Amino acid sequence: MGMVTMSELHKYGRTKFIMPGTAACPGCPLQVGMRQLAMALDGKLAMVIPAGCSSVIPGTAPHTAYSFPVLHVPFASSPAVASGLVRAVRQRGINGPVVVWAGDGATADIGFATLSGAAYRNEDILYIMADNEAYMNTGIQASGTTSWMAWTTTSPRGKTEDKKDVALIMLMHKVPYVATASIAYPMDFIDKVRRAMQVKGFKFIHLHAPCPPGWRMEDAYTIRPQGLPLRLVPGFYGSIIRVS
Ligand code: SF4
Repeated sequence: MGMVTMSELHKYGRTKFIMPGTAACPGCPLQVGMRQLAMALDGKLAMVIPAGCSSVIPGTAPHTAYSFPVLHVPFASSPAVASGLVRAVRQRGINGPVVVWAGDGATADIGFATLSGAAYRNEDILYIMADNEAYMNTGIQASGTTSWMAWTTTSPRGKTEDKKDVALIMLMHKVPYVATASIAYPMDFIDKVRRAMQVKGFKFIHLHAPCPPGWRMEDAYTIRPQGLPLRLVPGFYGSIIRVS
């Protein structure tokens, strides 16, 4: 697949990768990002999701708003489950993408050991860290990727620790593909997902995704504040990091 164009993006406008009537808050960044991911892969993927907003959003079994197969798994286990799943489907001759879609808490904190293990083994999975910078689903507690001085319910005077740079930590694992992206730049994110799928082995994308209730902002502003970190850290968010 080549670089995505605006007309190609419009082509997906009517495709329902996520059905209406989800349990997400209005303006939820995870729905936006997951839809962009499904666009990039034309809806052909198997997904593993640990505990978090994305496991609540599709509704309760036997119903689901997601149009692709999803395994909902305990908080710390998604990279391990995805490792087993990808080996099983490859054994059966299926080459399609196995994707972990996890929040920042599941990635940088609770699931970090299994993430590190899967990266170290260079498992053939695509790992997306959808980073809304706190544990939003359980009440806006600070996570390892909450920014320095940011307000959360566990850092009422501002977080005193710096944000963990998970993409850089993944680079240190010497995996073949690491990128950063933002839901505010869908064509860039889609391009990076497609580029990742051309690489065999462990692929990691840090996807920045601000959450209206957690960031105490209007629903309509999900996309707009993305410009701030993009401007503050030029060359990081929205850029491609290649590892040779
Ligand atoms: S709390 Fe934030 S991330 Fe979770 S469903 Fe609501 S808007 Fe989405």
